[in-house]
Amino acid sequence: MELAERLAALDARIDEAARAVGRDPRELTRIVVTKFHPPELITALRGLGVRDVGESRQQELSQKRSLLPETTDLTWHFVGQVQTKKARAVRAAADVVHSVDRHRLADALHAADPEADSPLAVFMQVNLTEDPARGGVAPEAAVELAEHIARNCGSLSLRGVMAVAPLEEPPARAFQRLADVSARVRAVVPAASAISAGMSGDFAEAIAAGATHLRIGSAITGPRPLRG
Ligand SMILES: *Cc1c(COP(=O)(O)O)cnc(C)c1O
Repeated sequence: MELAERLAALDARIDEAARAVGRDPRELTRIVVTKFHPPELITALRGLGVRDVGESRQQELSQKRSLLPETTDLTWHFVGQVQTKKARAVRAAADVVHSVDRHRLADALHAADPEADSPLAVFMQVNLTEDPARGGVAPEAAVELAEHIARNCGSLSLRGVMAVAPLEEPPARAFQRLADVSARVRAVVPAASAISAGMSGDFAEAIAAGATHLRIGSAITGPRPLRG
């Protein structure tokens, strides 16, 4: 299949999954994750009307943005782990950061541009696995991190929570835990109502659990080249 066909087919499946659970597909943001693909793919997607793209490595994001200066109509989402020392570079290159998972990182992103004219949109990544080494704040620590960002990081705008479903569990069950965390976060930061969840293999389950931002890679782009 061609890129245009895969994109259209995926969007049709998103629509169907939303309608199946009584949701309006227009409330969903479909981010196309373009990591490891060449910049030309982003140009092609933009030609097909895509306006939200996702990258997972800072260097790759910064490079692609500088190679594609004309893409001022795109929103660039950063969905990968952020090393604290890369916070400044991530802030400079990303419009939205989905992976804030600790105080130190929130503080570093804020410190990178504390007087910014427009705040940096961020999601808090929640770890839905039992493994503390995986990215994300522990579910029970999420409210505290949300309060910290809202109180102390004035140049960040907390939009909601983000997670990757664990491999070893049905995604619907994991996304339900994320929805519970989202409700608790919203109780303290009402504006943080978005949920970034759902990838190529589990977006229908994520939509059923209330996802607002889908991060879809391979189902649209085709298989990823090996990491360069
Ligand atoms: C790569 C990636 C995706 C997209 O994954 P696919 O399975 O290709 O759809 C989504 N979210 C994150 C955090 C990723 O790293």
